[in-house]
Amino acid sequence: MLIDETLVKRVAVSEGVDKKVVSQGLTEGTIVIPYNRRRPRQIEPVGIGKGLRTKVNANIGTSPSIADIENEKTKLYAAVDAGADTVMDLSTGGDINKVRGMIIAESTVPIGTVPIYQAACDSPKLKKSFVELTVDEIFASIRKHLADGVDFLTVHTGLTRAGVERLRNRKRLAGIVSRGGAMMVEWMMHNKAENPLAEYFDRLLDLTGEFGACLSLGDGLRPGALADASDRPQIQELLIIGEQVDRARDRGVQAMVEGPGHMPLDQIEMNVKLQKEICHGAPFYVLGPLVTDVAPGYDHIVSAIGGALAGMYGTDFLCYVTPSEHLGLPDADDVRVGTIVSRIAAHAADIAKYPERARKWDEEMSRLRERFKWDEMINASLDPKEARKRFDRYPKQAEDVCTMCGEFCAIKHSKEALGG
Ligand code: SF4
Repeated sequence: MLIDETLVKRVAVSEGVDKKVVSQGLTEGTIVIPYNRRRPRQIEPVGIGKGLRTKVNANIGTSPSIADIENEKTKLYAAVDAGADTVMDLSTGGDINKVRGMIIAESTVPIGTVPIYQAACDSPKLKKSFVELTVDEIFASIRKHLADGVDFLTVHTGLTRAGVERLRNRKRLAGIVSRGGAMMVEWMMHNKAENPLAEYFDRLLDLTGEFGACLSLGDGLRPGALADASDRPQIQELLIIGEQVDRARDRGVQAMVEGPGHMPLDQIEMNVKLQKEICHGAPFYVLGPLVTDVAPGYDHIVSAIGGALAGMYGTDFLCYVTPSEHLGLPDADDVRVGTIVSRIAAHAADIAKYPERARKWDEEMSRLRERFKWDEMINASLDPKEARKRFDRYPKQAEDVCTMCGEFCAIKHSKEALGG
């Protein structure tokens, strides 16, 4: 693999690790730096993988029902402002080329997309339905996104006809919940042919390698209900993705692996370890995992519980979930809240994974808290705006204590009693 030393150095500095950690991870395929050589705007590169901070992605994008470019711009700013490490544009409505162009031009973080959505949105212009598209037309959408400067691409390469057969034999509660996965199944069934992204995987590698971008091998059969977690179709797809990771490495193309989905807490460790084993340590990127199916409106919290655990066991990259999950298209406030909650999960995971590096922030906060340094404490918090809003809700009655316990402040009394 051609390693860009400048990117390696910048990632090492931002992570506080030795350059060798980053270059060795890139060589072995346990770290990726999604950075398209054609991207029109310079950004701070982001490393994802072994030995690095757990990263957070925020999904934005239009839908066929709500497609407003200004809305998407506000969502992009909300995600970046809240600390998202990357943003994915999942647009499927309105002028998706214009939305993607705006996002790539405005974003200060790496951008990912799902090019198969482009193929589906462009098919009416060719007077075809998605399933009537040729392999070349599908690959044209991938090239288009790479040429635009997209840094990482979700491609559902592991969902093959064998996986579909497994799915037929295993009556799932929630079936297929991945949009890209469902599209690939429809295409395979209509054409009675293999998934073109799997059949022509080398072509996909050559194309991605040309731009120095990164593949995110999508889990089209990720479980969409706890009842479907860790079933044979899911594992079948993972086995194929594991082989594709090897092929990507052989050709010097960066690849990470996407994972569940809905997953009971007690299956998370096994799933992360299985992915790491089958995919030879490739960076793992999970959506959630959502640890219960019953809390729409709070699925950002449901996914953070799963994300913290998944991160602790070795997951490298968390895709956020917003309070609107399962209910509707997120707005800018959902994006902000989803990003913050996912960052909490990622940081909690890092405290367990890399205590020496990650706990410094917590120790600093505790020191400020113990000294009643309110302004500094608020500024050092993960979401200073939210902390400030709550601190200022009631008028202050004393410089030291807050309005929670007032004159009964335990910290103040114990310091006085113990002479601290
Ligand atoms: S008043 Fe209560 S909540 Fe506020 S700083 Fe003191 S102990 Fe903590």
